[in-house]
Amino acid sequence: MSNPPPLAGGPQGPEALRPLLDTVLDALHDGAIARGGPLPAGGPHTVTTRLRDVIGDPLPHHGTGPDTALRTLVQALAEGAADPADPLCAAHLHCPPLALAAAADLAASALNPSMDSWDQAPAASALETLVTDALAHEVYGDTGHPGQPGRPGQSGRPGQSARPGQSARPGPPGHPQALVTTGGTEANQLALLLARESHASEGPLQLITGDGAHHSLPRAAWLLGLPDPVTVPAPTGTLDPAALDEALTDLPGPKLVAATAGTTDAGLIDPLPEIADVCEHHGARLHIDASYGAGLLFSPTRRTQLTGLDRAATVTLDLHKLGWQPVAAGLLAVRNPADLTPLTHHADYLNADDDTEAGLPDLLGRSLRTTRRPDILKIAVTLKALGRTGLGALVDQVCDQAQEFAATLHAHPGFDLYDTPTLSTVLFRPHGAPDERIAHIRRTLLTQGRAVLGRARMDGRLWLKATLLNPHTQPGDLAQLLKLVEGNTAR
Ligand SMILES: *Cc1c(COP(=O)(O)O)cnc(C)c1O
Repeated sequence: MSNPPPLAGGPQGPEALRPLLDTVLDALHDGAIARGGPLPAGGPHTVTTRLRDVIGDPLPHHGTGPDTALRTLVQALAEGAADPADPLCAAHLHCPPLALAAAADLAASALNPSMDSWDQAPAASALETLVTDALAHEVYGDTGHPGQPGRPGQSGRPGQSARPGQSARPGPPGHPQALVTTGGTEANQLALLLARESHASEGPLQLITGDGAHHSLPRAAWLLGLPDPVTVPAPTGTLDPAALDEALTDLPGPKLVAATAGTTDAGLIDPLPEIADVCEHHGARLHIDASYGAGLLFSPTRRTQLTGLDRAATVTLDLHKLGWQPVAAGLLAVRNPADLTPLTHHADYLNADDDTEAGLPDLLGRSLRTTRRPDILKIAVTLKALGRTGLGALVDQVCDQAQEFAATLHAHPGFDLYDTPTLSTVLFRPHGAPDERIAHIRRTLLTQGRAVLGRARMDGRLWLKATLLNPHTQPGDLAQLLKLVEGNTAR
């Protein structure tokens, strides 16, 4: 090769990117038109065969050059996508990313900061500190950790004080903080790890969840070698404080209760203040998985649904759900920064003691990952561009849509509605249809490429699930969705 391909960074990077981006944008456009719906028709075999035909040899001896490769692969991916920007793609907590967040993510890729050391991410690491502090403040307000007021400077970060094996100096007092994660799963894992380490001297940590809690919590307990979780039955879908009280009574050893603000199946919010009271009474630590519900913090009218959130030691947020970010955009808010001390980690090439003492920020204690994307950039751009008001309006828009859709279903003789939505999830089923029919309807719509609906088992029955996360969805779109379901209901 005479000349190596151009790079994305530096002063010449943008000029190299511009024509490539034109190709990408054209391919995205053409792929979406060719798909013509929320997902490709034909099911897995058709999609796989088509993709294989388009791609040919994935690792050819001689490459095709950038234009052909970009055009072919991007168009094929767009054509074969389940596109959450289509109003009828509404199965999961799979949000349509905002154009501005995707644009910011391009800059993150071009600059490629890595968040594991300051010398790879000077401004990006400063941005991460500012924005995560602001988000932690959004969760915990001014209360912070009881008895530990004050906002220390950068050097007050726990990752810079104690080292493993050093004398057990408690972490410095400070304000709540937030760590950037790949999503709710990693945030929940970290929450369990921090809880386990905080109570390490008291015996094995027992996790207690409601049975509507996310599957990543028991999985994290397994990963961390904790005892099998205690699951409190939640027949109504939320964790009942009286049942929790009973489960905690006489339970020995350190305890972590994981409550949920926005269940994945039904968007339900556990009674947080009552659960916090029960935890306090039993000396149990509280984690709240607000992967879905945390977006309500931005809504002036719906924010009160999260009352009690600030009483948790740790809170999971996931802005690739009600935050309209491209994956990945998770966070774990931590009330007491001393809880982060166990993440302190030393690698001489990244955070040598003398570098840290000379004032280079130590970033390794902010994650279990080493190389790490600056996912904070797209989040920062979105918060700045929309403000609390703009984000709150998006949250209200999708929650209002869910209310209206539920009202339509309630008034419709052919459908049963599970319940009035708490967030933006609506569960419904054609009246009188058996479970197998419900499952079949969902798969038929998928295979036809006409709609992406989810499924959830509640009340011992199977329901169709519409998770509304698209602020551009119109009532007519949801009416069309119902027509499609009706059209597949009769045998
Ligand atoms: C989505 C979700 C998770 C997992 O988040 P990922 O970003 O998929 O890792 C955890 N908890 C709840 C309640 C969720 O809805």
